[in-house]
Amino acid sequence: MSGPATVSGLAARAEALDAGDPLARFRGLFVDSPEVTSYLDGNSLGRPLRRTADDVRRFAEDEWGGRLIRGWDERWLDLPLELGDRLGAACLGAAAGQTVVADSTTVNLYKLIRAAIELANADPAGPARTEIVADTDNFPTDRYLVDGIAAERGMSVRWIDADPLTGVTGAQAAEAISERTAVVVLSHVAYRSGYIADARAITALAHAAGALVVWDLCHSAGAVPVELDAWGADFAAGCTYKYLNGGPGSPAFAYIAARHLPALRQPIQGWLGRRDAFEMGPGYEPADGIRRFISGTPPIFAMLPLTGMLSLVEEAGIAAIREKSVALTEFAIAAHRELLAPLGVTLASPEQAAVRGGHVTLEHPGFRELTQRLWARGVIPDFRAPQGLRLGLSPLSTGYGETLRGIEAIRDELARSDAGLPV
Ligand SMILES: *Cc1c(COP(=O)(O)O)cnc(C)c1O
Repeated sequence: MSGPATVSGLAARAEALDAGDPLARFRGLFVDSPEVTSYLDGNSLGRPLRRTADDVRRFAEDEWGGRLIRGWDERWLDLPLELGDRLGAACLGAAAGQTVVADSTTVNLYKLIRAAIELANADPAGPARTEIVADTDNFPTDRYLVDGIAAERGMSVRWIDADPLTGVTGAQAAEAISERTAVVVLSHVAYRSGYIADARAITALAHAAGALVVWDLCHSAGAVPVELDAWGADFAAGCTYKYLNGGPGSPAFAYIAARHLPALRQPIQGWLGRRDAFEMGPGYEPADGIRRFISGTPPIFAMLPLTGMLSLVEEAGIAAIREKSVALTEFAIAAHRELLAPLGVTLASPEQAAVRGGHVTLEHPGFRELTQRLWARGVIPDFRAPQGLRLGLSPLSTGYGETLRGIEAIRDELARSDAGLPV
């Protein structure tokens, strides 16, 4: 157990870090919930912005209420592309015309994986590409999707057995990818450990074998800089309700490299992805550009909170956001070492900041039961079976003092259970 001197050392450090935080002013722009003293789940569901309530009311009264059906022509039809371009520029390293806000991450991944398989097999003289490469530690939706798509298409999945601590390595990817590979599906930042994959190297490996890659950016977008164009990426998707604070169920984004757009056919051919949609003509002919990835009516109302958050990301800059994110995870790891490691808690995230995303995962057999008690006292991390506690430190809305309060609460609750105190 750490003595009081260590605790006050951490407290002083948290105070100094909060005082010197160049992004501190952003914290006040988020809705504060008085009974939550430490919100450590902003990577699962970001806090709302204060302005969101006004934005929603103004939209209902002025735009929707005022413009009515005219709103589609005047603005809404272009909004998925407009927000996609802003997102691409602010945090994805994507030039305009390649990103769209639509559907959910799951649906976008499905559409992208299916489209990638068609493209990878487009050359009749090329090898039959019958395999999807994916890893066993990816988020469930990714694993279920590739299983389902493989069954639909009579393909097989080549599973990479990823070490949760190191993630999918270049060597593992090189071993799994071959001329049978159609598409590789991986997360850039692992949802469990926070490990950052070497996306540029893995993309190059896949291309050398004639395969395409779909990157899942759910735990990257808004926290870890992404350079899709520079990586030579093919496809990517991610959600906007985590570090992009879009709200529960806010629409996801999808990226398709410009070079793939002319030949891209997506599997859900709906009317709003058609050329001259409002002619309502016979047969389906895809629209030009990224618009062809849209299937049906875009959820405009659900894009409002994201629009507000994008302004903040643009203002703060993704490099400064990443800098704070690294400082927050470094601080959380230091606090873990002093306060939790002595109680048997282990670190299940990379030690090295360069390969660690915006969250830190800790492990202890008591965490499942502990999580309920933490939530009840207003300290909110995320539990990940079998024994992981994930501390999501959303850079624009989380403070160092807040992080320390959460870790102290974990320490207190663990000490109570260890001492056999009634809990
Ligand atoms: C959160 C998350 C998803 C979520 O997909 P939805 O369709 O929004 O439910 C997908 N992939 C990863 C890696 C995630 O972390």
